[in-house]
Amino acid sequence: MPMHVIYGGTFDPVHHGHLRLALEVSERLGNVPVNLVPCHIPPHRGETGATAAQRLRLLELAIAGEPCLQIDDRELRREGASYTADTLRQLRNELGADAPLVMVVGTDAFAGFDRWQEWQQIPGLAHIIVVRRPGTALDRESEPARLLAERGVESADALCGQASGRVLELDPPWLDISATGIRERIGGGQSPRYLVPDAVWAEIQRMGLYGACPVNNF
Ligand code: ATP
Repeated sequence: MPMHVIYGGTFDPVHHGHLRLALEVSERLGNVPVNLVPCHIPPHRGETGATAAQRLRLLELAIAGEPCLQIDDRELRREGASYTADTLRQLRNELGADAPLVMVVGTDAFAGFDRWQEWQQIPGLAHIIVVRRPGTALDRESEPARLLAERGVESADALCGQASGRVLELDPPWLDISATGIRERIGGGQSPRYLVPDAVWAEIQRMGLYGACPVNNF
């Protein structure tokens, strides 16, 4: 049964850290496509970010021509806040009860997993791949650490035989890039070139995002 893999984030903007990670995960799972799922951003998050449509456009440019990466824009199409549990429930309905469904998160996001809406339902809906982020460790006494201890498996093969419920830690190379750093760089008049795909930077300039001068000249 083919595996369905999702990797959520704000992608404001998408950068090479996200893209490399998605590709590494895809390769380690046997070249299965990884679906990038841009999330809804609450209005209070600030004015410097891009709109949902702009983030989506940047993602489309970023993955163009890469068969192992896909976009799933369902959270942008939903009204209001997007909760991962809702997305996984929707996918589970579409894929059927037996298909392995996998959610990818960085250790930073997984460390706060027990504050997610309906987090206790999530292992019943999907497997979780936790990608180790340098400098971020799980508190040993925390719920996420307990989940890892109880449900942890050693290899990607263990995710195939079951639809959900297992946790796999992966340790691919982590590029030290953040969307916050990119937005600050652009806002400060510096170039983010080589941190994001050229097509993404060109489009950021064309649309004048994050305080970029709206010109197309790298
Ligand atoms: P921001 O700086 O705006 O918080 P970000 O760059 O951390 O953004 P997000 O969209 O918030 O990116 O992150 C989505 C997912 O990507 C999370 O699971 C996060 O752990 C992961 N991620 C963030 N930065 C990197 C990176 N450099 N390499 C791989 N994964 C990353």
